[in-house]
Amino acid sequence: MPENKINSEKPLSGSIEVVCGSMFSGKTEELINRVNGVIARKQSIKVFKPSIDIRYSSTAVVSHNQLSVPAIAVAKANDILTQADSADIIAIDEVQFFDDTIVEVCKSLAKQNKRVIAAGLDMNYKGEPFGPVPHLLAIADYITKLHAICAECGNLANFTFRKGNDETLIVLGENDKYAALCRTCYNNK
Ligand code: ZN
Repeated sequence: MPENKINSEKPLSGSIEVVCGSMFSGKTEELINRVNGVIARKQSIKVFKPSIDIRYSSTAVVSHNQLSVPAIAVAKANDILTQADSADIIAIDEVQFFDDTIVEVCKSLAKQNKRVIAAGLDMNYKGEPFGPVPHLLAIADYITKLHAICAECGNLANFTFRKGNDETLIVLGENDKYAALCRTCYNNK
């Protein structure tokens, strides 16, 4: 990941950063890199994730390439607010799985002068905006949109294609169930 300028600066006031993209675009790696930067500077941080996402671990955020940081799994967005305590920085992974309450939670944390770093899918497998993420993007101070590599042609990919015929909106899975595709290859499906 390229070093992001905002990673190395401590904001003077609260802020909201959103890291978005398709599956396999490196969102969680980017989140973990930012978290590790914070830890290296001895700032206090808490990392949260929705309890729905237990693909790798219920007590850590783990990336596809097995980087990990300890995390608190919470059932609903408001749990982040009540457990944020005195942490200066709040990181949230898989933010698309929370309901719209997460928007007010992030604003409230930023108002308390906390730096909020949220990572998640910007689109679902149908190519539609995913849950609260479009709203978060609108109110964010900083946005990073990452790309995967198209599984079919090797171009930059920003769509998540689901293999098979399951129509349920949320199906947890990895490359057994999903592939990252560019717009052209996605539209040709
Ligand atoms: Zn392609």
